[in-house]
Amino acid sequence: DEDTQREAVLAAVDAVAGRLSDEKKYLTDLDSAIGDADHGSNMSRGFGKVAEKAGEMDGEIDEIVKTVGTTLIAEVGGASGPLYGGSIMFASQELEGGITAESSVAFAEAYLEKVQDRGNAEVGAKTMVDALTPAVHTYKKSIEQDDLPPLTALAKAVDAAERGVRFTVPLKARKGRASYLDWRSVGHQDPGATSTLFIMEELLDVAGE
Ligand code: ADP
Ligand code: MG
Ligand code: MG
Repeated sequence: DEDTQREAVLAAVDAVAGRLSDEKKYLTDLDSAIGDADHGSNMSRGFGKVAEKAGEMDGEIDEIVKTVGTTLIAEVGGASGPLYGGSIMFASQELEGGITAESSVAFAEAYLEKVQDRGNAEVGAKTMVDALTPAVHTYKKSIEQDDLPPLTALAKAVDAAERGVRFTVPLKARKGRASYLDWRSVGHQDPGATSTLFIMEELLDVAGE
């Protein structure tokens, strides 16, 4: 029911905040190789604030998720803040009737659509889109065509995101700060694709409980 869903969302927020705090140095190290060394602190600060606020978030599921987005917009900054925050905010509308297999697919698709709209990055530009796109497509296909349970679909989506992250390593960045490095960005893993994977891994973890 609704209370269970609300608790699950708050548990997910806590799990993501904890993970990003644990990975702060790792993400910042990735960003120091091809960016400005702040992705770990940006994400950790942003989700830390979200987790702090979580106690006050007591509306409907879609309102809670919307608040996650607006908080990230306000706290994360950089390129990733509006991408993560704005897209979560936009996609939150899809959860108006609560979280179902169907609405979770709609959420994932709306989120991807907004990230692409805002950032204008194609697959292969070495961004979070490289993890997100295969993940969302896999999730949708697993549910709509293969009729798999959402948890199995999410596990497959996480695998797809992981391959997407590895796929960023040999790419030359064409968007964001890393693109200023031109060919020198080759051989490094994209920080935003990596944080996208970490968030998805935590969602899977919480969904499995
Ligand atoms: P900044 O680069 O402004 O310091 P962050 O370090 O927090 O911001 O985030 C960098 C990440 O943002 C990159 O690793 C990349 O995944 C993502 N990113 C940057 N520009 C874009 C874009 N146009 N579209 C999608 N993702 C992007
Ligand atoms: Mg940065
Ligand atoms: Mg920055």
